[in-house]
Amino acid sequence: MSENDPREVVRNWARNVEFRAARVHRPTTLDELRRVVADAEAVRVLGTGHSFNRIADTHGDLVLLGDMPAEVEVDAAAGTATVAAGMRLAEISTRLHAAGFALANLPSLPHISLAGACTTATHGSGDANQNLAAYIRAMRLVNAHGDVVELARGIDDDFPGAPVALGALGVVTHLTVDVKPTFDVAQYVYQDTSLDEVIEKHEDVFAAGYSVSAFMNWASGRADVWLKLRVDRDADPVAPQPSWLGGTLADHAAHPVPGMPAENCTEQLGVPGPWFERLPHFRPEFTPSNGDELQSEYFVPRERAAEAFEAMRRLGSRIAPIVLTSEIRTIAADDLWLSPAYQRDCFALHFTWHPDRAAVTPVLAAMEDALLPLAARPHWAKVFVATPQAALATYPKAAAFRELLLRHDPEGKFRNEFVETLFQL
Ligand SMILES: Cc1cc2nc3c(=O)[nH]c(=O)nc-3n(C[C@H](O)[C@H](O)[C@H](O)COP(=O)(O)OP(=O)(O)OC[C@H]3O[C@@H](n4cnc5c(N)ncnc54)[C@H](O)[C@@H]3O)c2cc1C
Repeated sequence: MSENDPREVVRNWARNVEFRAARVHRPTTLDELRRVVADAEAVRVLGTGHSFNRIADTHGDLVLLGDMPAEVEVDAAAGTATVAAGMRLAEISTRLHAAGFALANLPSLPHISLAGACTTATHGSGDANQNLAAYIRAMRLVNAHGDVVELARGIDDDFPGAPVALGALGVVTHLTVDVKPTFDVAQYVYQDTSLDEVIEKHEDVFAAGYSVSAFMNWASGRADVWLKLRVDRDADPVAPQPSWLGGTLADHAAHPVPGMPAENCTEQLGVPGPWFERLPHFRPEFTPSNGDELQSEYFVPRERAAEAFEAMRRLGSRIAPIVLTSEIRTIAADDLWLSPAYQRDCFALHFTWHPDRAAVTPVLAAMEDALLPLAARPHWAKVFVATPQAALATYPKAAAFRELLLRHDPEGKFRNEFVETLFQL
């Protein structure tokens, strides 16, 4: 049965965005979902609500897919898995691993839904790792009429517009993703490294593991480097050097936010374990990050990264009082029209803020003054202040995406204020 409670108040995970939906639905079957969509005037899906802006909001019907059947079907010969798109990464990963398979990469947390993650171009780290959406081979969606449609890589010419669509192409019910044989990862943390050295040697630092994150203290000049090594591939994964970049190998587990409990985090200290229990920073059964926070992130082309880091250092004293942690990661280029890594390898500069919008907004404006001229692209699911023109300025396929929206959903059933403002619809 679909719950349809007009009084229900739904907030995002951080409880700082209240959705304005008139109705909330939790369909349990595809037929029920199709009826909800067909009958609605305006509809959005809410994944697990881990975004920090109004990207998931609607004045109409909000649909949650958590009660739909949790399907994971592996096609070993094709090297793919077809997955119910509302499932959380944690559950998908556990089931893939049990079947002997893995996703190429994961973001910092496994709590989020696959569809919600992909449509905002959620990413992890790794010079050779693309954002999650780049591994989508096919998508099944419920369109505005309530019909089920399929889109596939290599078959539909405009497929590269679909995986990162900001939730505006329809209700994604299933995703077919590339999988690979399961693998083990060992995670090490280097504490109190020199920010100067991390910046100066950033190409080498990020080439040192399968997935590397540097937590930068832009004001103090120190950083912590989290090194995630593939046990079967990276050089000497179980015997790293005791000091590196002016810092020391941690002998106790750490959390990216100073003062938060390390038990919330995936196992470190070089203990090898399956990919999905090491690539995210946070364990699924604990609160990730801080909980009470805002987040922002900017993707800069790799060749502009050093300039971006210097700009953040210059702003360090303004960033310091309002930041909980700041992380830099690498993402490999892809061909998805709205991906911040569209046709360019990137460094992503992430900021977890104290939940104080009034204090964060002017600092974001100053950061964007420095970063947008370096062709930075904001993360779609996080807080940014750029105008639509500025946010889309470096996306050569923005107009093609707009046409795709108009073709797939001429009446605009799946659009919301966020999408309409961005694409001036
Ligand atoms: C603690 C924390 C850590 C994070 N770490 C990372 C990180 O490491 N890397 C990173 O890139 N981001 C990160 N994020 C951001 C997060 O990945 C994105 O906000 C992501 O979109 C959240 O997924 P969700 O399932 O919660 O989607 P929601 O926030 O619920 O929705 C996001 C968008 O997806 C749409 N959507 C959801 N499901 C569907 C569907 N089935 N069909 C169509 N549209 C749909 C919604 O309408 C909305 O537009 C983090 C966020 C938090 C809170």
